Amino acid sequence: MTLLVRNDNDANPDESIYRSDRYHEISKLDSRIDNYPKEKLFTLSFITAMVFQFAKQKTDLFSVRTYEDKFKEQFLFNLQIGTMHYREIELYRGKEEDDNPVYSNVIYPLSSLFKHSCNANALCYTLGSTLVVKSVSTIKEGEQCFISYGPSCVYLNKPKRQEILRYKFHFTCKCKPCEEDWPQENNPEDYKKFRVVAQNLLAKNRQVLIDHMQRIIADLNEALETQSESSKEVLHLTERLRICYELLGSLLV
Ligand SMILES: [Zn+2]
Repeated sequence: MTLLVRNDNDANPDESIYRSDRYHEISKLDSRIDNYPKEKLFTLSFITAMVFQFAKQKTDLFSVRTYEDKFKEQFLFNLQIGTMHYREIELYRGKEEDDNPVYSNVIYPLSSLFKHSCNANALCYTLGSTLVVKSVSTIKEGEQCFISYGPSCVYLNKPKRQEILRYKFHFTCKCKPCEEDWPQENNPEDYKKFRVVAQNLLAKNRQVLIDHMQRIIADLNEALETQSESSKEVLHLTERLRICYELLGSLLV
């Protein structure tokens, strides 16, 4: 199993050096093992047993008996860390436009320290193998940066968000929208449509999308002068901004 840290400065992924000396940064991340649902723990244990049996039959890794337990323990732990912290990135594309991109799962130990909010004030996207953290609203000095682990109060109600976060990340969300039970009014389909519109703008020219974002930012600032951060309008514009940043980030590979 590969759970190592690649040298970020390496321009050519094929010739990357895997930095096993930085593994301790990953191994210290929180796996929240105590809160795992039983069925999830069973699945990961089952995978571990299968891989162990395969390795035992096909390799000479276990010539010393004590390695067997260490292997199983370490493999299961790596799976737990992985399911909590993996992020899929596009590594590179072939030379032709229609060549399939190559994806990889990576862990960024630093960004794994960010806490979740259902109305995150920052977002993460990747430029090649570099992770960028970008603010999507004004973050005052001393204020905490939050990213989203997936669910957003913009289009998911509190029970649904809490269910997803408990199952996938094993915690009960106590972010501001959850604690104050912000009303969820926006339609997720609107954002799917907007993503397509933004993708088309981007296909024309990157600058066209950037100009569009400038208008969204101006509208957002205007809305914030008269409305609260939980208003439908403010959440709607912020979500549009997030989508634009995500698209721009993936393009700049
Ligand atoms: Zn929340």
